[in-house]
Amino acid sequence: MQPVDRQGNEPSGATAQNDGASAAGADDGDRPADAARYSERLLSEGHERWEGHRCPICFLFVGLPMREYAKMNVCCMKTVCKGCELAAKQRGIYDRCPFCRTPHPTDDASKLAMIQKRVSKRDSVAIFHLGNKYYHGGLGLTKDVPRAIELWTEAAELGLVYAHHNLGHAYYTGKGVDEDKPRGIRHWQEAAMKGDVQSRHSLGVAEFNNVNHELAVQHYMISAKMGCENSLNAIKKRFMGGLATKAKYAEALRGYGDALEEMKSHQREEATKLGF
Ligand SMILES: [Zn+2]
Ligand SMILES: [Zn+2]
Repeated sequence: MQPVDRQGNEPSGATAQNDGASAAGADDGDRPADAARYSERLLSEGHERWEGHRCPICFLFVGLPMREYAKMNVCCMKTVCKGCELAAKQRGIYDRCPFCRTPHPTDDASKLAMIQKRVSKRDSVAIFHLGNKYYHGGLGLTKDVPRAIELWTEAAELGLVYAHHNLGHAYYTGKGVDEDKPRGIRHWQEAAMKGDVQSRHSLGVAEFNNVNHELAVQHYMISAKMGCENSLNAIKKRFMGGLATKAKYAEALRGYGDALEEMKSHQREEATKLGF
């Protein structure tokens, strides 16, 4: 679902230069008080996951990375968890969306038509998804990165955190756009404060690249406690390297375990067992 899903993959184009990551959200560098307030807000907000990451049927948060635990349906743009998909199949619903019951599209052209129909209604998820298709050149569309960036920007303006995450990645790494790390970081900050786990993890990576280990661990702590295994592993690595305390790692481990526990359901366990 997320083509530039870099859950835990430290951006490859990243370098260890100082790009002002810590205060990138504060526009005016001459106002240190504003920058400090922004940095404080950045660390205090977004500790709860974004509500859009819940399965619309069972209302539980979807496991991370979401593409492994849920599937997006282009009819309604709802991402349904595999547990609910299995339950639907057990009730005989095979060829339809488990959420809105629209028959699944059978070819690229009908998929694209469904997406475009929702784009015309300004559905932010559909706009984002169409952007993904342009980014990679999917569903018969010619690859068009500038168009993808335009669509992601539109979806981000409508408040969609995934769109901010992808824009953050594109600008930070310069993949398909002129590299602009502070701009990429601002997108991640925007999304992280709304509870986007992947963007929070990416902020940890950016601070790590910036040799701000303490701040990197602070970001990783937040995302680990929201169920991000890569953030947990990042803290473990810092702990092994003497850059994080044992107590911090233990706290992350506990928080991560609690987040996983909250996402558990009988249906989801069954779906995993069946290799769904
Ligand atoms: Zn569900
Ligand atoms: Zn549907």
